[in-house]
Amino acid sequence: MACSAFMDGKRIIGAFLSDQEWSELKKLSRARKVLMPDTKLPAIAKTVRWNGGVTRFFSHFPGEAPEGYASKESPAHTARKLAIYSRLLELGIPAELEAGRDDWRADVLVGKSAFSPELAIEVQLTKQSAQLTYERTNQRSTSGVPTLWIFGHGSSTGHLGVELLQNNPVFEADSETQAADIAQAVCTGEAFFNDRTELASTPARPIAVKVDCKCGKPWLLPVGVVLLPNRIRGDLRPTYVSVSRTSTKHKGKAVSTSGAFTYLRRYLGVIAAAGEKYGLPVGFDLYPERAYGHTGTIHVQRFSCPNMRCRRIMHAFGCKGEDLVWCPVPITAHVDARPIVDVEPAWLVAMPAPYDESVFTKAQWQERFILPMRAGLVCLGTVGGIDPEDL
Ligand SMILES: [Zn+2]
Repeated sequence: MACSAFMDGKRIIGAFLSDQEWSELKKLSRARKVLMPDTKLPAIAKTVRWNGGVTRFFSHFPGEAPEGYASKESPAHTARKLAIYSRLLELGIPAELEAGRDDWRADVLVGKSAFSPELAIEVQLTKQSAQLTYERTNQRSTSGVPTLWIFGHGSSTGHLGVELLQNNPVFEADSETQAADIAQAVCTGEAFFNDRTELASTPARPIAVKVDCKCGKPWLLPVGVVLLPNRIRGDLRPTYVSVSRTSTKHKGKAVSTSGAFTYLRRYLGVIAAAGEKYGLPVGFDLYPERAYGHTGTIHVQRFSCPNMRCRRIMHAFGCKGEDLVWCPVPITAHVDARPIVDVEPAWLVAMPAPYDESVFTKAQWQERFILPMRAGLVCLGTVGGIDPEDL
């Protein structure tokens, strides 16, 4: 099945003919004067109902397709291919349908565009494994032509690595219009590969409680940080990351003490920056311990008074992680959010516009978090043993 054919050495695109031209072409095809674009064998002109309209296409005469010829193109596939092709023609970008080179044929072969001297566009609506995507992409790369893959939702299975993505745009589209928009964005040079480097400098707010220590020297007890990747790209949300407690399981896998150590210390620098800003020393971090609570076992990072003569171990309880993203405390540092933010390197048509997050008022924050947290401060003893004053 193809949406173009050859007659007298010229390419004909079924969809672009008037009704009269099409009915004349049908007669000529029955007289075996029209040829398939790839095999150059006689083609028969046919129509199929699709999406409230009629799609015109060409196929071999029954029983005449060469052995192993696998072209079961769906009307949806044809419609997307045509939408892409006609959009590129409208834009004045040279494009050919069902054309190729060497041992391959693309849905649309694009000539010189802002993207590259040549580009193969492939619409892929049926499931295709990553391995096959690699093989087909390599076939085209060998001829010096990169490939733009426009998959249907979920039709690309397996993982495509950065080394393929860097040179070959890969997108998903839900409609013909979206497929055409993607092809347009790639060929006009608007689309870009986003390797997430912008998230290496994500603004972060510190969450910490000031401890009015018995030794007379106040200090900051770290709780967590709020990462604000939404300030960089609008499809991302503010995220709370604890620096004081974490689950012993992550995505069904056990988290070791050293794994917890890495996780809990990753953004401690944001609290250190807050300490400098407010002129308060930050609690001295001890090695994480396992604790048994009503939600199961967790890793807990405890902190002690940084005053060597005191070294009380303090712990704060009572605040829920998901509400902590409403913290209104000013940003104190920019950190690499990539280990935490769940977003893969990918091609984008445009960067989702960033937005400013909503926060509590200072009074709400004080009432909902600071007061309960300070009330929940517990002294767990001192580094050298139990402080008798607390028994
Ligand atoms: Zn102290």
